[in-house]
Amino acid sequence: TDPALIRNFCIIAHIDHGKSTLADRMLQLTGVVEQRQMRAQYLDRMDIERERGITIKSQAVRMPWAPTEGGDSGTAHILNMIDTPGHVDFTYEVSRSLAACEGCVLLVDAAQGIEAQTLANLYLAMENELTIIPVLNKIDLPAAQPEKFAAELAHLIGCDVEDVLKVSAKTGEGVDRLLDEVVKLVPPPVGVKEAPARAMIFDSVYDAYRGVVTYVKVVDGKLNKRERIKMLSTGATHELLEIGASSPEMTPSDGLAVGEVGYLITGVKDVRQSKVGDTITLLHKGATEALPGYSDPKPMVFSGLYPLDGSDYPELRDALDKLQLNDAALVYEPETSAALGFGFRVGFLGLLHLEVIRERLEREFGLALIATAPNVVYRVVMEDGEEPIVTNPSEFPTGKIAEVYEPVVRATLLAPSEFIGAIMELCQTRRGSLLGMDYLSEDRVELRYTLPLAEIVFDFFDALKSKTRGYASLDYEPTSEQSAALVKVDILLHGDKVDAFSAIVHKDKAYAYGVRMASKLRELIPRQQFEVPIQAAIGSRVIARETVRAIRKDVLAKCYGGDISRKRKLLEKQKEGKKRMKVVGRVEVPQEAFIAALSSD
Ligand code: GDP
Ligand code: MG
Repeated sequence: TDPALIRNFCIIAHIDHGKSTLADRMLQLTGVVEQRQMRAQYLDRMDIERERGITIKSQAVRMPWAPTEGGDSGTAHILNMIDTPGHVDFTYEVSRSLAACEGCVLLVDAAQGIEAQTLANLYLAMENELTIIPVLNKIDLPAAQPEKFAAELAHLIGCDVEDVLKVSAKTGEGVDRLLDEVVKLVPPPVGVKEAPARAMIFDSVYDAYRGVVTYVKVVDGKLNKRERIKMLSTGATHELLEIGASSPEMTPSDGLAVGEVGYLITGVKDVRQSKVGDTITLLHKGATEALPGYSDPKPMVFSGLYPLDGSDYPELRDALDKLQLNDAALVYEPETSAALGFGFRVGFLGLLHLEVIRERLEREFGLALIATAPNVVYRVVMEDGEEPIVTNPSEFPTGKIAEVYEPVVRATLLAPSEFIGAIMELCQTRRGSLLGMDYLSEDRVELRYTLPLAEIVFDFFDALKSKTRGYASLDYEPTSEQSAALVKVDILLHGDKVDAFSAIVHKDKAYAYGVRMASKLRELIPRQQFEVPIQAAIGSRVIARETVRAIRKDVLAKCYGGDISRKRKLLEKQKEGKKRMKVVGRVEVPQEAFIAALSSD
């Protein structure tokens, strides 16, 4: 295809503002999906995505479109719609999807207005210098306020109110006009036809039957079927077994040329061999310079995952191995905990990523798990110059520490202006610092903060929602790190450390953390035959203490010396219950207590 006839675009929207529904209408209007095959959210394939209404993996769909009006009318164009993951955890993947586009549709619910996720993605689109088409969706809703929000949008991106399109993805109203505007406003891709081939990977997805399917945009030159390609980041070479475009089912072709978007298959079985952001070139007469913007995915949040039943450990390992085939950002290594047994320390891009993986492990692999409280990654600088990276709080170094660095994020919060005070207060207690504040309209305000990631991974979102009656939205992206006064708080049972409860907290919050954990555990740990002190300590300094008093537990006493078989049964039952006990030092703790203590409340 002549690049002048290609338009590569994406839709960016806050969750539930109608991105998937709009994509459905476009598939229908352009005729790539027949009416009778149409099902809602055609492109959202994974069940978990569909249920939660989130799109995790991006894809690209090729659609033909001949505008009905204007200078281009009647000329067949190719529209490539690139689906971006909407969520903050996947910022890097979003940024690579955006980099494959020349324009984007900024979709906003006409009854809700702009939300934080809209803004965060808009900023990314602007950084990638995309042409932005502002669109209000759901104008069929009685509660829609198209005039008000058109003004908000126009103000935000600096266009005329008249330039804001109004559509209903549900009824289809205005969607054909939107497709015309995409042709008219989005610039065609520019690349050098004669140059050595360079294609950017913006997604790679593992498929059980075909191996890894890699989605690319060809920036320069051409990739042909059967050629040998090379990944510039690793130098690995592969044969192009299949190349083509999805429309929306995969349709093989002879190759992909300048500006074209499509997929390729090389037979590799692991997405880490086909990394998002990497540049593909040809083995012979290939390019030497990679396209800009590549970086390795970096896990930001870690959690220990342990099987509830220790004998499930091999299954957990197999399940993680399988999930990793499709998830280059998932990392893990075996770990042993005195309290929880054998498990894994697993790294995630963020909280949603963690939740999604946990849910898949439980749902798709039938594993019952205990997860330790999520923690961020710390860089510790020791006085002797060593710089250990800490991904597990219980491994925080004990020697002389010069400095501890923690990751910080740039957060965008959006809410009705009546909640400014509540939000500022919350961010203050979470060690945030205000970067700026803007009114989107007279009653809606955007606040920008720098916040330690550690303060967000723990129930920040819930706190925000409850303080703003659900009206505030939040988005954030990792920016850098800062030095902070952080200490490790240990929890000791009868003098023995419970590694699963060690936490790294700011020194001003250490006391509160210690008191909370100690009193929580006092309620959860059953009485033993001796007194059990529960202590919270920083190093050797105890900062909180509780005691579980001794009890002489004699189960047999209940049986009044009667029926002997009943007695035996009871003994057996007790033995079984013990199996589910974990022993810390001399203290027996039911597993349930650990689970309860680890859950946030
Ligand atoms: P996404 O999270 O941005 O992909 O949003 P969805 O496409 O899943 O839509 C979220 C909800 O809004 C669904 O219940 C849709 O049926 C509904 N929806 C989407 N577009 C419209 C619209 O134009 N009008 C109305 N009334 N509802 C819509
Ligand atoms: Mg969706």
